[in-house]
Amino acid sequence: MTKDEWVEMCGKALAVEDIENFHPLEIADIGRKAPDAQLYGDHRLVAPSFHLVPNAIKLCHVLCDLREAVKTTPVLVNSWYRDIIYNHRIGGVSRSMHLTCGAADVTKPGFTPSEVADILEHHPDSGKFGIGRYKTFTHIDIRGMIGRSSPARWGSNA
Ligand SMILES: [Zn+2]
Repeated sequence: MTKDEWVEMCGKALAVEDIENFHPLEIADIGRKAPDAQLYGDHRLVAPSFHLVPNAIKLCHVLCDLREAVKTTPVLVNSWYRDIIYNHRIGGVSRSMHLTCGAADVTKPGFTPSEVADILEHHPDSGKFGIGRYKTFTHIDIRGMIGRSSPARWGSNA
């Protein structure tokens, strides 16, 4: 699937759900260059399989809630979908939820990563979430909504 095809197909799926605040290229920035590996050269992010789009949509709904929580702000996405090579290149764990389109590393301007994690803990579906606390961002995933064991928590924002 080309970048344009991804934008069109995923864009339609988002429109059906009335999701206006997230763009297909935030979900999967097709063509983004992965860090180089000495032996294997260039790798650029490949489009996700279309069957993963429902996972992205579930996460969009959670991120829309995060957007409106406490004070409405944009939610900025550092990293959402990763293909398996991309994930490996950046040192992601082997069964990373980022491979499923159901995880994103995000920030919310005006809120610390710790505050963002606390907001997500108060979400009605937090029992189905994976929440990772990092110094500069918060990892959120919807593992319990796609049949993986949940909840999961790690990190301390320290
Ligand atoms: Zn993550």
